[in-house]
Amino acid sequence: MTGLAARLADLASDAMLDTAQVTGYSRLSPEFARLELSAEAFRTATWVPGAKLQIRPRRGSMSLRTYTPTKWDAGRGVTELIAYTHGTGPAARWFEQVTDGQACAVFGPRRSIDLRGATGPVLFIGDESSVALACALRTLAVDLRFVFEARDPAGLTDVLGRLGIIDRVAVVAKSGDRAELLGQARHDARPVPYSLIVTGDAATVHAVRRDSRGWDRRPRQVTGKAYWAEGRTGLD
Ligand SMILES: Cc1cc2nc3c(=O)[nH]c(=O)nc-3n(C[C@H](O)[C@H](O)[C@H](O)COP(=O)(O)OP(=O)(O)OC[C@H]3O[C@@H](n4cnc5c(N)ncnc54)[C@H](O)[C@@H]3O)c2cc1C
Repeated sequence: MTGLAARLADLASDAMLDTAQVTGYSRLSPEFARLELSAEAFRTATWVPGAKLQIRPRRGSMSLRTYTPTKWDAGRGVTELIAYTHGTGPAARWFEQVTDGQACAVFGPRRSIDLRGATGPVLFIGDESSVALACALRTLAVDLRFVFEARDPAGLTDVLGRLGIIDRVAVVAKSGDRAELLGQARHDARPVPYSLIVTGDAATVHAVRRDSRGWDRRPRQVTGKAYWAEGRTGLD
């Protein structure tokens, strides 16, 4: 980006985005960061569990990256993000390097998945990028089963344990044909009317949606959202 374009991006960002402060940072594992953000604007924001919050990881660019608040405390103006810091994308690097007290430009919260409808039994399918959504869901629903695919199943199981997601959780290794994931999902499909929520890799969301149409115990409702896709950056 040229110097002028970068300056214009900063001007636009300052006008359109809110400023939050990092008020807490810890590592759940070498690949997962937990971040507390505080902002005056968060006190008046309308948050729906499952909504998204976007951050601007680089000055001089308007490019945003999307995350899922696990909870929202409007009284204190505080929220929490959990980020999978894979690879070398701008957000992954930002979450690797961020420090307490640092300022952060944010946009949102804005509507994405609305978890408020998840009142009955839920089968939740996701991956590393879906951990925060699982945390948000846990604050609402009680009859939950989780199936995760992961590059490092033992590592993700450990992180989920630290977050208290221990019961009725299966973590399978990510594979090209998704056979183990789909088999586990079919196995965990409920004998009573239930909702299926699937997020994460776009290819997995597509495969689960398609496969679920043939399950004996089909969900009454399917909510799916791609959180990332191979070779694409910054899905919204
Ligand atoms: C509504 C919504 C909510 C989301 N909530 C969360 C959340 O709470 N926590 C979270 O960690 N992520 C979440 N994501 C996913 C996150 O926005 C992406 O992973 C994002 O691409 C990360 O930005 P980056 O700058 O690190 O990488 P990018 O510059 O966007 O991508 C760099 C490369 O990494 C690949 N890549 C991106 N994400 C992944 C991944 N998860 N696994 C493997 N490869 C990947 C891309 O295909 C690309 O090749 C959410 C996405 C959406 C759309």
